[in-house]
Amino acid sequence: MFLCAEAAEEENVNTRIRLELVRGDVTGQETEAIVNAANPSLLGGGGVDGAIHRAAGPGLLAECRELPQVSPGVRCPTGEARLTGGHGLKAEWVIHTVGPIYRGGERGEPELLAAAYRHSLALAEEKGISSLSFPSISTGAYRFPIGEAARIALSEVLAFLPAARRVELVRFVLFSSTDLAVYREALAELR
Ligand code: ADP
Repeated sequence: MFLCAEAAEEENVNTRIRLELVRGDVTGQETEAIVNAANPSLLGGGGVDGAIHRAAGPGLLAECRELPQVSPGVRCPTGEARLTGGHGLKAEWVIHTVGPIYRGGERGEPELLAAAYRHSLALAEEKGISSLSFPSISTGAYRFPIGEAARIALSEVLAFLPAARRVELVRFVLFSSTDLAVYREALAELR
């Protein structure tokens, strides 16, 4: 049903919608939007968040600061998503989402991670964004076990795509070949 790329190898001509898994750096992707694994302040951090802010330049931080705080210091609660411009990035937009910190898995982490993907996809759809690249949210500093995170991420995207009207390409950009292998395996299990 979908193109599930290991560098765009499989394609089904019956659909315009593609799901790709690639190894690489999300900051340099030329999709219309890239997704940031942000923290609730949206003021930058380590990992992919820091890399995105470095690549985008100071305009991104300035725009994030302008976003309203929903509670002190919180511009994006866990599981939600916010949109900014891409500034110095190739991508026109950045969708900032906040995944859960993993604390054993019994504190709503799976549902919050699913919500982070769902809200990111919904925001892309709402803004008419046709292509977006995700990093593996929550699986770095937030310590979500990557096997389970991959199943959640891919399940959400697979559930979303059939009804998508604007989104045509969802790409997962995995930083290591090990992470890519985990995502590939998860996708194979889900299909
Ligand atoms: P979180 O706090 O949500 O866990 P991290 O940025 O710490 O976010 O890590 C999320 C994932 O992103 C990790 O698997 C990490 O290896 C990966 N990562 C880090 N930098 C990049 C990048 N430039 N492009 C893609 N993935 C990245």
